[in-house]
Amino acid sequence: MEVPFLNLGAQYASLKRDLDNACFSVLSSGRYVGGPEVDLFEREFASYCGVSHAVGCASGTAALHLALLAIGVGNGDEVITTANTFAATAEAIVHAGATPVFIDVDDNSRNMSPCLIEEAIGPRTKAIVPVHLHGQSADMNPILAVARKHGIKVVEDAAQAHGATYRGMRTGSWGDLGCFSFYPGKNLGACGEAGIVVTNDGELSRRVRLLANHGSETKNVHVVIGYNYRMATMQAAVLRVKLRCLDTWNSRRRDIAMHYASMLDKCTSISLPRSMPYGEHVFHHYVIRIPNRDNAAQRLRNRGVNTLIHYPIPLHKQTAFARICRVPASLHVTERLSKEILSLPICPEMTEPQTVWTSRCLIELYGR
Ligand SMILES: *Cc1c(COP(=O)(O)O)cnc(C)c1O
Repeated sequence: MEVPFLNLGAQYASLKRDLDNACFSVLSSGRYVGGPEVDLFEREFASYCGVSHAVGCASGTAALHLALLAIGVGNGDEVITTANTFAATAEAIVHAGATPVFIDVDDNSRNMSPCLIEEAIGPRTKAIVPVHLHGQSADMNPILAVARKHGIKVVEDAAQAHGATYRGMRTGSWGDLGCFSFYPGKNLGACGEAGIVVTNDGELSRRVRLLANHGSETKNVHVVIGYNYRMATMQAAVLRVKLRCLDTWNSRRRDIAMHYASMLDKCTSISLPRSMPYGEHVFHHYVIRIPNRDNAAQRLRNRGVNTLIHYPIPLHKQTAFARICRVPASLHVTERLSKEILSLPICPEMTEPQTVWTSRCLIELYGR
């Protein structure tokens, strides 16, 4: 049986009429960047996250870059984050002029270990960027406590965690600013590139909007050097349609995760992802740990099951970052995870027979 990792065609088919109408209405409006459609999406997404402000932008990477610039990160500063993330998290830090400082992650949540932050803080530390990896929140309370103690800011990378919660509140709403990506494969995906910054701070939101729009609030008046990081109107129209489905899609992901767990529970050589008791996981990825990972991926592929690895090379080992990052203490959990992790398909469009087939193949390969 063929099990695709993602099935965006099926997602489009399920919403075809609404998406077609939304896109045609943007086409005929003659307004293609910004405008009322973007304003409405910003309001709806802010309300979904439980925050007072949202600024639509060109991508999740742009969102992170803008958020860091808005809190004043610049040349010579340091920003603490994790190395088991997509390159964009650290790229944004470097683009802002700062040095990424990588600390290790917790074995269970696979997210930033709050107890390692303090020893990584130096005189130039300006911010912490916790990544809510695979759809599960990082442990925000201790992260915010250290940040407050040292007077540094927190920017959440929530690019994989739309709708996830931490102690009853949405990810993105805990830090000074929260950044989301709407890359097509994310839990909430556009039909191209898009992202958003959310915050409860009106002044930070104003600053993000200014920087995203060439440093201009009033037409033809440029007060700072900004960027062209605005959201395309078509993406906002598509995202408004899809936002209404996000909770249903996330609960579908959780159902598939529970189904996997019930079937793979007895496979002692496979270790299943842990849902931390402090919040609700939205399973952007379903990441197991498995011996002989590369061999397992190939054997699953031979049976039609498509898997991916998020991520095989931690950022401190990447040529792009190796010489410019700072690594205050060894990242042994991060490094061990990178060799053992495997992401199973878990998109909301996945059928029950596909979940069963994927589990059966794993049980057949790895026994009980
Ligand atoms: C996808 C992603 C980003 C970047 O978002 P883009 O919209 O692709 O620019 C940043 N951080 C993480 C953790 C991501 O998964």
